[in-house]
Amino acid sequence: MIVMLEITPIPAFSDNYIWMLKRPDSPRVALIDPGDEKAIMAYLQKHKLQAIAILITHQHYDHTGGVAALVKAFPGIEIICPNREPSKTALSIDLPIQNLITTPAEDGSQIQIEELDISFKVMSIPGHTLDHVAYYGEEAVFCGDTIFGCGCGFLFSGTAEQMAASMNKLAALPGQTRMYCGHEYTLDNIGFAKWVEPDNPAILQRDKIEMEKQLKGLPTIPSTIELELKTNPFMRFKEPVVIQAAEKYAGHKLNTDGEVFAAIREWKNKQYDA
Ligand SMILES: [Zn+2]
Repeated sequence: MIVMLEITPIPAFSDNYIWMLKRPDSPRVALIDPGDEKAIMAYLQKHKLQAIAILITHQHYDHTGGVAALVKAFPGIEIICPNREPSKTALSIDLPIQNLITTPAEDGSQIQIEELDISFKVMSIPGHTLDHVAYYGEEAVFCGDTIFGCGCGFLFSGTAEQMAASMNKLAALPGQTRMYCGHEYTLDNIGFAKWVEPDNPAILQRDKIEMEKQLKGLPTIPSTIELELKTNPFMRFKEPVVIQAAEKYAGHKLNTDGEVFAAIREWKNKQYDA
């Protein structure tokens, strides 16, 4: 019998999560988005673990920064990563690992990590970057910087239309799917969610619950797709109350998912995060 998959957050930088996948009876692990070389190498050493596979959601430095060191420390390690978006202007946040990829993560393909008996479906979810993917399986989705707890990633190279379509794709996963994202931003995001929907009881309740977790030093992640659908303004752009709030901010009628999404994103960027 295969024993339960352990999914552990390894805190990195100020608010990143590196997700580690492990079976209880083996020291061999897979890592999602090991961006922080120091944090990941120290953790593996301390717990006497060996990395056998890395899954990357997108090639930003805070998700790829530990890959080169891991390849050196664990020769033969599998690097699963989407091929980099072509002809993009380089941003300071990019840290391509294109030449280290052993298994390109292509939309719709199935990724097997046999030794850990893990199987993931690759979902292309552009928006934060054009080449961004999620890994879905084990009743979990690893979605990098696309959805966050009660929020979403910044649009670096994708459009609002693309991000809204990616959100719709994620929203179609079973509600109980656990959502593992790349940053701990939940509490801050809930503050903005309350701007958009001051009277949504699910948001007010979530605010209390996540606050208690953070006061105890616990992560608010994983969330679930169901909880995000109830509370996350960036997944709720089809809800009349959210559309109304977005139109009020924009000052005119909004006609598509992408337009509503763009208005909410701009509202957060320009007023809440300012
Ligand atoms: Zn990113």
